[in-house]
Amino acid sequence: QAKVKSKKQVVFFDDIAEAASYRLRLESELPLAIETNQLVLCYQPQVDTITYQMVGVEGLVRWNHPELGMISPNDFIPLAEEAGMIIRLGEWVLREGFLQAKRWEDKGIELKVGLNVSMQQFHHPTFVLTLVRLVKETQVNPRQIDLEITEVSAVEDIEETVETMHRLKQLGFTISIDDFGTGYSSLSRLVDFPIDTLKIPREFVQKINIEASGYSMISSIIHLAQSLNLAVIAEGVETLEQVNVLNQLACERMQGYYFGRPMPPHEIEPLLYRDLT
Ligand code: C2E
Ligand code: CA
Ligand code: CA
Repeated sequence: QAKVKSKKQVVFFDDIAEAASYRLRLESELPLAIETNQLVLCYQPQVDTITYQMVGVEGLVRWNHPELGMISPNDFIPLAEEAGMIIRLGEWVLREGFLQAKRWEDKGIELKVGLNVSMQQFHHPTFVLTLVRLVKETQVNPRQIDLEITEVSAVEDIEETVETMHRLKQLGFTISIDDFGTGYSSLSRLVDFPIDTLKIPREFVQKINIEASGYSMISSIIHLAQSLNLAVIAEGVETLEQVNVLNQLACERMQGYYFGRPMPPHEIEPLLYRDLT
């Protein structure tokens, strides 16, 4: 039995052929979905662990398919990458995230909006120009935007990466390394990257109580961040127990179902200035 897995649902297919035809369907319908606004960007709270108030959000894309319902990004981002559609999809996400950040800014709401950038998008020759164009078009203040780049894409071509990152910083964006510690990169080069934040992956947070694995990985990432003067944020925090251990390790920011799931922007606003524990 073939299986298409997503966070919320596990769909079983009778055979490989059915799974393949599901993928083909998604792939062929994706361009129209982008054009007709079937995509939605949800936002997940990120809290500061001194006040437990929301200081930022991460934008996470979903596909609200008219027949198939909500489709997880795990099911269509890889397809978009394979089918050469990730540049268009990625641009939709950036524009949508910029517009929302601008709406919040106009309302006097100070929230940093994190947006995911796929590897192909980051290394695309027009990436920086696209950002410049979208900043002009949406009038967003780039200081409101944090670009999340995976560790794997950062080590793909280090010299080019460092140069692109410097240009992003010059424009005013901040940069996070997503899923830090899962990409087997040589940490010695980290010091060359003009980045702001390391994101601790959910895999480590889930194993936080197993001494030699999660706990020590997280502890090393936090020490590394401190020595390089970078911020850290732990992802996938689901339990109070995890919050407590992360606090002992002096983790300054957290994100996860314990504080809030990804949600539409109008559900984010009532959570402002509240203790989210
Ligand atoms: P990611 O960037 O590591 O995003 C975090 C994922 O963990 C999200 O899944 C989020 O909903 C989920 N999550 C957050 N807190 C918890 C928790 O406490 N427990 C558990 N079990 N999960 C939690 P989601 O939204 O399904 O996104 C999956 C991946 O798809 C993302 O992983 C990212 O790699 C990709 N993705 C999502 N949106 C975009 C996008 O706009 N552009 C690109 N290129 N990739 C995206
Ligand atoms: Ca992310
Ligand atoms: Ca992540």
